[in-house]
This record gives sequence, C-alpha cells and structure tokens, in this order.
Amino acid sequence: MEKVPYDLIVIGSGPGGYSAAVRAGQYGLRTAIIEKDPKLGGTCLHVGCIPTKALLHTADVWERFVHSEEEGILCEKPRIDYPRVIDRKNKIVAKHAKGVEFLMKKNKVEWIKGFGVLKGNGRVEVRVEQGTQTLETKNILLATGSEARMLPGLKADGTRVLTNIEILTMTEIPKTLAIIGAGAVGVEFASIFNRFGTEVTILEMLPRVVPVEDEEISKELERVFRKHKIRVETNSKVENVQVLADACKITVTLANGTKEEICAEKLLVAVGRKPNTEKVGVENTKIELDRGFVKVNQWQQTAEPGVYAIGDIVAGTPQLAHVATMQGLVAVARMAGKPATPVNRDRIPGATYTDPGIGSVGLTEAQAREKGYRVKIGKFPFAANSKASILGSHDGFVKVVADERYGEILGVHIIGPEAFELLGEAVTAIESEATVETLMHTIHAHPTLYEAMGEAFNNVYGLAINA
Ligand SMILES: Cc1cc2nc3c(=O)[nH]c(=O)nc-3n(C[C@H](O)[C@H](O)[C@H](O)COP(=O)(O)OP(=O)(O)OC[C@H]3O[C@@H](n4cnc5c(N)ncnc54)[C@H](O)[C@@H]3O)c2cc1C
Repeated sequence: MEKVPYDLIVIGSGPGGYSAAVRAGQYGLRTAIIEKDPKLGGTCLHVGCIPTKALLHTADVWERFVHSEEEGILCEKPRIDYPRVIDRKNKIVAKHAKGVEFLMKKNKVEWIKGFGVLKGNGRVEVRVEQGTQTLETKNILLATGSEARMLPGLKADGTRVLTNIEILTMTEIPKTLAIIGAGAVGVEFASIFNRFGTEVTILEMLPRVVPVEDEEISKELERVFRKHKIRVETNSKVENVQVLADACKITVTLANGTKEEICAEKLLVAVGRKPNTEKVGVENTKIELDRGFVKVNQWQQTAEPGVYAIGDIVAGTPQLAHVATMQGLVAVARMAGKPATPVNRDRIPGATYTDPGIGSVGLTEAQAREKGYRVKIGKFPFAANSKASILGSHDGFVKVVADERYGEILGVHIIGPEAFELLGEAVTAIESEATVETLMHTIHAHPTLYEAMGEAFNNVYGLAINA
C-alpha cells in the first residue's frame, strides 16, 4: 500500500467536490480529488445545469426571431442549424471544464483519475484499468453525485428512450417528445423543445407540475404551458412503454381514468435521480444510508469518523448544485477548524429555467400554514410591471409568504421573466433576517423587473402602488 499523507481526499468532481477541493487548497490542506470520468465538473457541468441553460438561452433567442414582427423587426425565413446549437453548448461546457482543471492546479489539488472506493480507516482505493492503488488520508469527502432513475423494465437506449444525458447530444430537433416526470428536469426540457417547435407531452403521476413549488406557482406554470401548446397530463400513470423502430408508444391511464396510447419520436424519462452510493464501498465503513442517501449531521459528517458527504447523495436536502457546493465548504471548514455555518434547509434557493422561469426560497404558503404561522400573503403580477411590458413577458407573479406577528419573511416564490435572477434579493433578505418592512422601504430602481419584488412586499399589507 502506498502511504501518502493527504489531509483530504475528495471522491467526485461535481460542483460539490471540486469547490470543496478548491477551498481545502485555499486552507492549505494537502488535497487530492478522484474522478472516474475523463473530465472534471460532474453532472452539473457536463449533463445538467450548464448545457441545459445553454440550450434554453438559444431557445429564447430563437423564440425572439420567431416573434420578431411584434417588435417591428422582419426576419425572413429564420432557421435553426441544430448541430451548431449543440456545438455552441459543447464549447461552453468544454471551456468551463478547462476552468475547473485550472482551479485544481491553482490550488495545488492533485487530480487522480479512477474510480474511488472507501476501504475504511481513512483508506481509499483508486481503481483504474491498469490496477488499483490504496491511499491514506485524514479526511474523506464523498461527493459522488447522482444519476437518472429509470422506470422498471425500461432502459435508456440513446435513440428512442433518453435521459438527461442522451437528450443533450441529439443532432436533430424531434417532431414529438414525450416526457415522463414534471420535476425541474422534465419541465426545463419541455420548455426548451417547445420553443424549438417540438410537440411536447408531459406525463406526471402527481396532481401538479413542479410539485415541490408553491401550489400557485405550479398552477401558473401549467396554465402557461397549456397556452404554449404543451400537453400536460397530471394525475396520469404510465402503464407501458413500447419501443418501436421509429417511435415510442406510451400507454397511459389519464386522470379521468381513460387509457390512451401516446406516440412520440423520443421519450425523455425524468423521474428523479438516484444517489451514487452503491459501488463506493459504503459497506466497508459505518456510514448509514436512508434509501440509498447518506445520513449526515449539520457539519456533513457521516457515522464513519473522518468521512463527510455532500451534494446529491445526502439525505434530506434538495439535489441542487449550489447545495452541494455550500455543503462542501461547510465540511472543509469543519475539517480545517475554520468557522462555518451549517446549511439551513429553509434558506435554500431553487431556480427552474422554464418559460416563464421559477425562483423560490423558503416556505411555501401551505408549509407556513402547516407550521402554525399567522400567514400573510403579498402578491404582485408581472402584468402590472412596466419592464415586463418592455420585454413582452407578462405571465407570472411574485408571491411573498410572511408571518403577521413580526413581518418575518418566510418564503418568496417567483414565476415570471428572469425569476431566477430576481430571487437574489429575496435570498439575501431571508439570510440577513430582514423583515417585510425593510423590503417595503428598500428603493427599487425604475423601470426594472425587481420593482415587482418591492410591490409584492408592499402588498403583504395591501399597499402595492401599481396593482
Ligand atoms: C438536466 C439537469 C439540469 C440541472 N440543472 C440544475 C440547475 O439549473 N441548478 C442546480 O442547482 N442544479 C441543477 N441540476 C442538479 C445538479 O446537476 C446536481 O445537484 C449537482 O450536479 C450535484 O453535484 P454533486 O457534486 O453532488 O455531484 P455530481 O455533479 O453528480 O458529480 C459527481 C461526480 O462524481 C463522479 N463519481 C461518481 N462516483 C465516483 C467514484 N466512485 N469515483 C470517482 N468519481 C466518481 C462522477 O463522475 C461525477 O463527476 C440539474 C441536473 C440535471 C440532471
């Protein structure tokens, strides 16, 4: 066994793992990062957050061309060169993957290629085709992320049945696309391909789309999706999928009990993500799992001394890149004896890049009522915001969930233009424990979309000016 006195070995180089490695380097810890894939960056960079948002941006630009007459601009026969769209997306990903590599060098983090397996007592085995080596370390950070779940009996074949991975490499825009699952991944792809002209059908087992969001947000997204001619079937149960030579035939029982066969050129399965904890040697440690997710304390420590876990594999926190990153920073600060603030579940922002977009933080109205708060709601529609008119983006609203007693801001839920950017103000307000009153007297520049935030806060007391 090769004895190398590492302070920290990180397994997995997604946003959680690589950010933690950078911070460890900044603290002067001798750090290595093990990655099984040929490139650093994980799901988020290669097949998640970044490529999807690159395509969404192009879909957005394309939509402007299609509707350019409304702006007084006449474009004759605009067309999409889809391979170039994919090429642009790939270049963005490649640029940032190089960036992560650079960060490892800059912070003196050793990049070890191979598959990392926990061996217990501070040992990690690295498997490569040529053999294995075992390394010793004071601390281990498990950041192995997640992969798409499949429906029982179904397999992604890359041609008809797709996950988030294969759908990003298609060379043509499909004419029809069925999506099983209306969580963040499903609705984002629906939004992309709907704008590219694909006929999209969403099949969701639960009663509403984006089920983790505030109920009113789900309703508004469903309304706008229908307006954009996306077929949305909630409360529907997929009974069978038949893969044919040129299409998928999906047998589904709809909400009203009728059975229907839906044919689509491509089928995207977006029914959640399973944590990568099966082959990483958890059985060689005292790590406890909850349905495959790793149980941790507030400092991201597992039950195995010196082993921390972060990101998509962790039980009880949402599978989001920025959650993985922050958990990594908390874990490393703890290892290095530096001050840290644990991740507060009620202060985690979420951004869903649909059209209109969604940005949310804190409690939904239903959660706040369940917890016994004296709930007051302030809402403001983008239809009454002048910048939204200028952008031609009128759907959606800002909704503030507050507690009547002290004006505490419990949650902010936005659906509308640039919702994911507008959310920043709400996240900072909640993190700094600002009250509704603080936001009411905060001056919001004009004309901006974020004036809608100020108006919604005023409307907690029925004091919005423009609605
Ligand atoms: C289509 C899609 C869009 C998304 N969009 C967003 C978004 O807009 N915003 C957002 O916040 N989140 C988004 N997410 C979620 C986000 O991608 C994840 O939450 C995030 O990547 C989790 O980071 P992580 O560090 O835990 O793991 P990952 O990013 O999954 O990285 C884990 C890494 O570990 C490596 N690995 C696994 N096992 C081993 C092993 N044994 N040895 C060595 N290496 C190993 C993997 O190869 C991978 O590189 C999206 C996800 C998808 C699928």
